[in-house]
Amino acid sequence: THFGYKTVKESEKEKLVAEVFHSVAAKYDLMNDLMSFGVHRVWKKYTVELSGVRRGHSVLDIAGGSGDLTYAFSKRVGDQGRVVLADINDSMLKVGRDKLADRGVSGNLEVVQANAEHLPFADNEFDVITMAFGLRNVTHKEQALAEFYRVLKPGGRLLVLEFSKPKFEFLSKAYDLYSFTALPVMGKLVTNDSESYRYLAESIRKHPDQETLKGMMQTAGFRQTTYHNLTGGIVALHRGTKA
Ligand code: SAM
Repeated sequence: THFGYKTVKESEKEKLVAEVFHSVAAKYDLMNDLMSFGVHRVWKKYTVELSGVRRGHSVLDIAGGSGDLTYAFSKRVGDQGRVVLADINDSMLKVGRDKLADRGVSGNLEVVQANAEHLPFADNEFDVITMAFGLRNVTHKEQALAEFYRVLKPGGRLLVLEFSKPKFEFLSKAYDLYSFTALPVMGKLVTNDSESYRYLAESIRKHPDQETLKGMMQTAGFRQTTYHNLTGGIVALHRGTKA
């Protein structure tokens, strides 16, 4: 990667991620509710509460997918504000765009196909950037974090909501069991695609833990980096501010 080309493993990951989200897009919202027993709504609500998004703000929801956060922010920023729903995957973007249109969001919304590693935005454009359940799918996470830093305004805030490391051994065991057995079965039943949900379980296990991600954010330049464990650390919400 230092020389500008991708290793086989890296381009395979990108292909796999693309296939997974093309495959699950149509049933994505339903699967989220089933897999998390609806709790993803609570995690997202918490993210919106801690985002500090206000009227007039410019907000980027990267890896925004079906647009749950985008929807909440579009109401908060009002007519003078701006919300960008961005995702690398056009199937997911289409689901998001349709859902937001159904809910009457239009004036302050932009929908952009973009890779988190190379954002098509100018420096210092956004007050807040959110990425929910997206970072673990990104091949070059450091590069994505550097891009978030670049396009945030000074004083702007990044929030990363992502699966993390459960705090208790028993929870960790139960969760592993659940994600490697129940998830692929549910995936098979609902989307006829168990492989995608096996990828999901593996990507969660491989993702950096709370302290590691916090360190990566600091390396990218973020200050006041903190995280909150949600549901016993199954999920964590990281925050950081651009100096
Ligand atoms: N944020 C939404 C939510 O919380 O419901 C969607 C999360 S979904 C699990 C992950 C999303 O990340 C998918 O829509 C996928 O297309 C997107 N994604 C994966 N790699 C990406 C990248 N490099 N840049 C931007 N989006 C990416």
